[in-house]
Amino acid sequence: MIFDLFGTLVPNLARPEHEAVLGEMARILGAPPGPFIRGWMATGPLRMVGQIRSPEDNAAAVCRDLGLTPSPQSLAGAGRIRRSYTERSLQPRPDAAETLQGIGATGRRIGLLTDCSSEVPARWTAFPLAPMIDAAVFSCVEGACKPAPRLYELACNRLGVASDTCVYVGDGGSRELTGAAAVGMRPVLLVETDPHAHQLETEAWTGERVAALPEVLALLDER
Ligand SMILES: [Mg+2]
Repeated sequence: MIFDLFGTLVPNLARPEHEAVLGEMARILGAPPGPFIRGWMATGPLRMVGQIRSPEDNAAAVCRDLGLTPSPQSLAGAGRIRRSYTERSLQPRPDAAETLQGIGATGRRIGLLTDCSSEVPARWTAFPLAPMIDAAVFSCVEGACKPAPRLYELACNRLGVASDTCVYVGDGGSRELTGAAAVGMRPVLLVETDPHAHQLETEAWTGERVAALPEVLALLDER
C-alpha cells in the first residue's frame, strides 16, 4: 500500500499559516510580502522537481525576480523560518501510526510517494512514521512530480510489489489518483475536510473513497 504525504499521513498545509510564514520570510528579506508570496508559489514546480535545491536558493531566486539582492544573513534567516515550518508541518495525523501499524501487521509493505521540496527528504529520518514505511519516493529527489507513471513504478519496485496488487491512498492533489489508476493501482481518495487546506490541482474523483485513514484497513479485507 502506498500513501501520499501532505493531506494524507500529515495534514495539508493550511493556507493562512503558510502565507504568514512566507510573509515573515519576506520581512526578513526586505521583500514586499504580496509579490514575494506570489513568487514563492510560482516557483513551486521548480522546488518539487529539485531544480531549486534549498529554501535559501529559492528565496534568492524569488528576490532576484523582484530586483532584490538580500544579504546571506537574511537568506539564512528566511531558510531557518522555512525549515522550522516544514518541521512543524510533518506532524502525523493522530490516526496515522495506528493505521500503518495495522497494515504492517497484515504483512503488507508500505510505501510513500510525495511531491515535496528538499526540506522533506532532509528531515525524513526524524519523521515519526518513517520507521513504519518501507520505501519513500520524493519528487524533488527523482526530478518528476505526480502523476508521472515512473514515480509510482519506482515506489512499487522499491517495495517489491506489482502495481496491480497495490492500493494507493491520497487526498487527490496533483492528480495523483488518476496517475495511480494509469499504472494499474487501486486508487482510494482520503476525503479532505479542512476548508483552509492548501491543495494543488485537486481532481474530481468519483472512485473509491474513505473519510479517515483507519478505514483503509477495511478495504484490505475486501479483496
Ligand atoms: Mg496530498
